[in-house]
Amino acid sequence: MSKTIKGVYVLVISATRDFRASVGALGKVHFRKGVYTYIGSAQNNLEKRIKRHLRKAKRKFWHIDYLLANNSAKVVRVFYVQTGKTEECKIARKLGKNGIPVVNFGCSDCRCASHLFMLKGSYDSSNSLVFDSEFYTLSPSIIMKA
Ligand SMILES: [Zn+2]
Repeated sequence: MSKTIKGVYVLVISATRDFRASVGALGKVHFRKGVYTYIGSAQNNLEKRIKRHLRKAKRKFWHIDYLLANNSAKVVRVFYVQTGKTEECKIARKLGKNGIPVVNFGCSDCRCASHLFMLKGSYDSSNSLVFDSEFYTLSPSIIMKA
């Protein structure tokens, strides 16, 4: 992945058990065991942003940082596409059709219901429904080695 890539990314996150986490200004959020998708945009350095998401130790800034700081939450897959920020919310709406929104999560600066969705059904069953061929996909271990 080139350092100059700008784009929109989707993190597929596995929550291995039910847990509650403090999520900044949102307060306590209850996460149910399951698979979530989170949509974000990096219009500067996409690779650096994704690597940041994959590191546990960091200062918490975005809502997603609070979720991923929990030991029961793990990024299991990363999708990204080279595109402008305007696509971010369109992709969020598309993912929302297949998921249950965690209300107000990750969407402080837009009018979406959420940028984090719990998938209905399994990741494998919804994967092909949600993502089309314009997306690249990587496993977190490959990204961290790059
Ligand atoms: Zn949005």
